[in-house]
Amino acid sequence: MRARHVRRAAPIALLASLTLISTPGVSFADPAPAPQQNVQVRQAAAQDEKPLDEQIAEAEKALENAKKQAEDTKRKLDNTTAEHNKAKQATADARDKLAKARDIAADAEARLHRAEERVDAHSGFSFAGVVDSVLSLLGSDITNSMSREVDDKRDAVSDAEKTLGKAEREETKAERAKVNAEKAHEQATAKQDEKQSELDKLNERKQAEEAPADGGAAPAAAPDIVKPAEGTFTSGYGARWGTTHYGVDIANSIGTPIYSAMSGTVISSGPASGFGLWVRVQHDNGLITVYGHINESLVSVGQRVEAGQQIATIGNRGQSTGPHLHFEIHENGVKIDPLPWLEAHGITL
Ligand SMILES: [Zn+2]
Repeated sequence: MRARHVRRAAPIALLASLTLISTPGVSFADPAPAPQQNVQVRQAAAQDEKPLDEQIAEAEKALENAKKQAEDTKRKLDNTTAEHNKAKQATADARDKLAKARDIAADAEARLHRAEERVDAHSGFSFAGVVDSVLSLLGSDITNSMSREVDDKRDAVSDAEKTLGKAEREETKAERAKVNAEKAHEQATAKQDEKQSELDKLNERKQAEEAPADGGAAPAAAPDIVKPAEGTFTSGYGARWGTTHYGVDIANSIGTPIYSAMSGTVISSGPASGFGLWVRVQHDNGLITVYGHINESLVSVGQRVEAGQQIATIGNRGQSTGPHLHFEIHENGVKIDPLPWLEAHGITL
């Protein structure tokens, strides 16, 4: 038994709906801005001017380019890393050489000091004046040649310091080049990921579109489910006023957009007993959704609709006590409670 919560025919509402149907000014366009949850769907639909295959081909090309960029930047990064390592090694070598030169210079200085002390000691020795002067002369010869050696060693230290300074500057430069190459590579990799996910999304969409054409036997990806309308949940499924209410009511002002809960094909659009005007959509997963008391239908029978596509506006037609959407889900001919079903798909009313 079809125990809809409204039974009485409503001649005035029916007349109104018939008038609406025959009014030429009724817009079948899609004028209302979608609420936030549908923005993504709508934007995607707006991009659909190009065929999906064309979009996929473009996305593939973009991904290919991004991959090449990523490879180029990787090569550059490898090169700059090798250069940096080489520069680091050169700096370490220069540092070693400088340390050795300093040791050698320090040795030479120490020897010079010891020799000078010996000469000083002899020069203070009160022996025969001749011996003294000879020794002192000899000593000063020795220390002179030693101090020349110390000067040479000091020059070597100074050269090694210059070499190290240059190596350090080269290393800093190589490091900067490497850091830049790293950044470029990171950016190129991120871009590649982005292009890959864009392509994945397009391919997913293509798969979803092709699945029902294959007879629907293949278990398609979970369909997009969209809240049919924004508003206040005012009435649930079940016993009400001595009868059974086979759907849920979402109250909102007249004209509020109503969206197809899933993608599918419109099987009814027009007057319906009790509902005033309704739209029914047959979905790819076998379910049928019903949208009752609508003010205006924006779709026609046989039309393909996407999840989140606006199909109607909220009205107060038929046996209705205030502007609201009456929403039903039929599964294998049984009107199921939409609330738990929607909740199972992440939608709360
Ligand atoms: Zn209802």
